Amino acid sequence: MNSTRLSGPHTPDRDTTSVVPAGEFTAPHRATRPSVGRRFLWWLTNDPRHQSQLTPAEKNELDWLRIVPFVGLHLGCLMVFAVGVSTAALAAAIALYVLRMFFVTAFYHRYFSHRAFRAGRATQLVMAILGATAGQRGPLWWAAHHREHHLSADTAKDPHSPEHRGVFFSHTLWFLTRGNFQLQRERVKDWLKYPELRLLEKLDWVPFLLLAAGCYATGWFLESRYPGLGTNGAQMLVWGFFVSTVVLYHATYSINSIAHRYGRRPFPTRDQSRNNFWLALFTLGEGWHNNHHYYPASARQGFRWWQIDISYVGLRLLASVGLITDLRPVPRAVLAAARGRKGSLQ
Ligand SMILES: [Zn+2]
Ligand SMILES: [Zn+2]
Repeated sequence: MNSTRLSGPHTPDRDTTSVVPAGEFTAPHRATRPSVGRRFLWWLTNDPRHQSQLTPAEKNELDWLRIVPFVGLHLGCLMVFAVGVSTAALAAAIALYVLRMFFVTAFYHRYFSHRAFRAGRATQLVMAILGATAGQRGPLWWAAHHREHHLSADTAKDPHSPEHRGVFFSHTLWFLTRGNFQLQRERVKDWLKYPELRLLEKLDWVPFLLLAAGCYATGWFLESRYPGLGTNGAQMLVWGFFVSTVVLYHATYSINSIAHRYGRRPFPTRDQSRNNFWLALFTLGEGWHNNHHYYPASARQGFRWWQIDISYVGLRLLASVGLITDLRPVPRAVLAAARGRKGSLQ
C-alpha cells in the first residue's frame, strides 16, 4: 500500500487488491500440527506461522494466550492496596502515562501510520522502541491495523468499528482476536525494508518488560538512597508500570470506541469519527478525530487555535532541535473549512 493514499480528505481510495491478510486464501491444513512448544515460540516472536492456518471462523475467536497477560495487567493494578502510594510513585505513573501517550500518538500514529514528518534512521528506531514501551505491540502491527482502519473506517472491514461490532469490541476485544494477531504486511511494505524494525516487531514485548524492570529498579534505588520519599521497588512497579499502562491502554482505545460515537462532526466524513474535547485532552490531541479522518496526513490534528493538540507541540519541539523534519502542515483550504464549520452532532 502506498501511504500517500491516506493523505487526502476523505481518503477516498479503498484498495481492494491488497487488504487480505497473508494466509486468507490458504485452505486449513492440519496434517502436521506443530508442537505446543513451537507454537508458543511463534506466539512469543509474533511469527506469522502462529496464525497461518486459521479458518475465517477461527479468526474471530478470542486469543486466550493474549488475554491472560492483558487481564493480568489489570489485576496487577489491585496491588495498589498492598503497596500503598507515595508522591514519587504517583508522579512516575503520571509521567509515564504522558510520555508514552506522546510516543504512541506522535510516533506510532503520526509517524509510522501516516508518515506525517520525516526522521533519520537512528531517530526512527528510537521512536519505535519508545513506542513499544506502551505495550501496544510493535509499530508495524499498530500502523498496519490503523491504516486498514482509515481505508475502511466504519465499514465491515474496519478492524475496530463500534458501528459493526459494538463499542466493547471496538474498545478492547478486537486486538484480542486470533485473526488480528497477525501483522498485515501488505499495509506496511514501506517499513519492511528496515531489518531493525522487523526485528523489533518480533520482540515488541522487550521494551515493555524493560520498562517494568526499570520501574522496579528505580523504586529500589530511591528506597535505598532517599528513604524519605516513602517509595520502594514494588510500589513503583505497581504505579509506574501497571496502573500507568492500564490507564494508557484505555485512553488509547477510547479513540477507536468513544471517538467514533460521541462528539461533534464538523467535517462530513463518510465514517462516524468525532471531535471530542475531553478525549483530545487526555490523549494529547488524538480526540480531534473527525479532523484527523478528514485530513489524516498532517502532523497536526487540532485545526483551530483552541483545539489543544499537545502531541503537535511536542513534535514542534523535536523539530526545533533538529531531531525530526518536514512536519506536514494542514492545507490552508482545510483550515479555512474548519473555521467555517461550527460542528454538528449527527
Ligand atoms: Zn478512527
Ligand atoms: Zn490515523
